[in-house]
Amino acid sequence: MKTSAYPLVTDLPVAIVGAGPVGLTTALALAYYEIPFVIFEADVALSTETKAGTTLSRTLEIWHRFGASSEILKRAMRVDEIGDIERATNKVRNTVKLHVLKDETLFPFVINLPQYDMEPALDECLSRIRDDSIQYRHRVTSFAQNADGVTLEIETPEGMKIFEASYLLACDGGRSTIRDHLGVRVEGRSLPERFSLVDLKVDLDVTNPRDFPYLAYFSDAKEWMILVRQPECWRFLFPVFDENKEYTADDLRQKAIHFIGDVKNVEVLGTNLYNIYHRVASKWRHGRVVLLGDAAHLITPMWALGLNTGILDANSIAWRVAWVLRGWADDTLFDSFEREQKPVAEQGSGEMAEAARAYMASRSAGVTAMSDHGWGNAYTRTLLGVRLGLDADGDWSMVKPYAEPPAVMLGDRAPDGVVYDSDGRPTRLHGLFGKSFVALYFTDVRRRPDIPENDLPWLKHYAVSRWDAPRDSPVRNRSLFDPGNLITQRYGCAANTMVLVRPDDHIAAMTPMAPGAAEAAYRAALSISHREAVPA
Ligand SMILES: Cc1cc2nc3c(=O)[nH]c(=O)nc-3n(C[C@H](O)[C@H](O)[C@H](O)COP(=O)(O)OP(=O)(O)OC[C@H]3O[C@@H](n4cnc5c(N)ncnc54)[C@H](O)[C@@H]3O)c2cc1C
Repeated sequence: MKTSAYPLVTDLPVAIVGAGPVGLTTALALAYYEIPFVIFEADVALSTETKAGTTLSRTLEIWHRFGASSEILKRAMRVDEIGDIERATNKVRNTVKLHVLKDETLFPFVINLPQYDMEPALDECLSRIRDDSIQYRHRVTSFAQNADGVTLEIETPEGMKIFEASYLLACDGGRSTIRDHLGVRVEGRSLPERFSLVDLKVDLDVTNPRDFPYLAYFSDAKEWMILVRQPECWRFLFPVFDENKEYTADDLRQKAIHFIGDVKNVEVLGTNLYNIYHRVASKWRHGRVVLLGDAAHLITPMWALGLNTGILDANSIAWRVAWVLRGWADDTLFDSFEREQKPVAEQGSGEMAEAARAYMASRSAGVTAMSDHGWGNAYTRTLLGVRLGLDADGDWSMVKPYAEPPAVMLGDRAPDGVVYDSDGRPTRLHGLFGKSFVALYFTDVRRRPDIPENDLPWLKHYAVSRWDAPRDSPVRNRSLFDPGNLITQRYGCAANTMVLVRPDDHIAAMTPMAPGAAEAAYRAALSISHREAVPA
């Protein structure tokens, strides 16, 4: 792994506990920021369990930034349509067409890839950076922290080991030892039903042609079903209501067959029967210890909200760790991680999970997460609508019930899109974000606006204009040409507005352009990134 280009305030690495998808993504993200880390994994290898199967556009964007999207995509099935079918009548309802997002994201599709294939893909990317990142058979049993670091006690085949870390990122899943050790309560509710998942090896393309979309939600008041075309099998997910019954693999197979009709040559590859929760840890940050992923929240996996919400945590924590360890911010920045990601899980994903359950059970009245608008449904269901409620309304909803893209709001994920740099190269906005905060100035570069130089590593400045900056203009090297004003219209802000985008792509401030405005907004975003603190 490359050593940090910036001096760090400590030589101690960050300890990541757990090599699930959230731990692996967090590690890739820390590597992107050149922050040293070690992953401790209790198991002998990555998980082979039948768990998550669908990954959304927002997660693909995050993996792309941290260097993992190609490795993932080459193993996955891409899906440009989320089927929405009424089971009783086979009537197609609000099928979600994802290509409508082609101007908004590099990934106008979602993918199907079982978690047991996804984790090795992430691991493959990690091993290109460093081949000993994961310490298997290392179970963290307890820890103690002081002002300088965290001391972990680790059970290994060679006996107990002690490890000194700067911070401990707990990605140790729903039964988190770290969370228990902290005595943190998990609040929320468990659902009465269980979900059953069956992977069938069956040919629904040629031998038994069915023409189902690769990801199809069959709603039904009694027994809904989700059908997922995985690279090597078809996955069926449906609720089971008999809480005491021990369902055999054959029972689950029969049910799956009942959904698709009589088919030839069927083999059960795997099954899983699991309880469903909406539970969130009451506190996520404890000094040098931070909970993320399933350790912090257990969310109904329907509409792919479980793992994908955890990846949002990884994206949110990584730049904060970098800023704190580089001495660019004090560690209150971790408080704002909790202040932001907890409502994202509780309210943002929570609202979606409730909507998913109601919609699948054909109780669609009042379900705002699905509307008649194709664009809004696609933006919502890909988690591109994820929003931090940083402004006065404190609205954390990820649902975008609009027919057309609305103007961006504080806390939104900044939309991606193509502009052209001063050498004429097409440049994606998201390619500019990540390593630093970025101030975008929506302005007319003919008027020689005052745009600060790009001489600080933590804050970069770019003018966005439909006018090409004159060659003798002092801002030409930091101007982005926006033919047709398309990006400017997508952002929808008034002329001469400065939009400050954080390294995790979220909008930290939108203010009229003025000398020092970006620096002031940057400082405000770092010191207290919650709603009272952001200037109106
Ligand atoms: C059947 C099923 C289907 C699902 N489908 C979807 C879906 O389609 N889409 C979606 O988004 N989500 C889905 N989910 C949810 C998804 O699987 C989880 O959200 C995801 O695995 C959470 O990742 P994680 O890295 O936080 O935790 P985990 O995947 O649980 O990983 C935690 C890791 O920590 C290790 N560990 C635990 N304790 C210690 C310790 N003390 N020391 C060291 N290591 C430790 C564990 O061995 C494990 O490897 C599904 C879940 C299930 C069960």
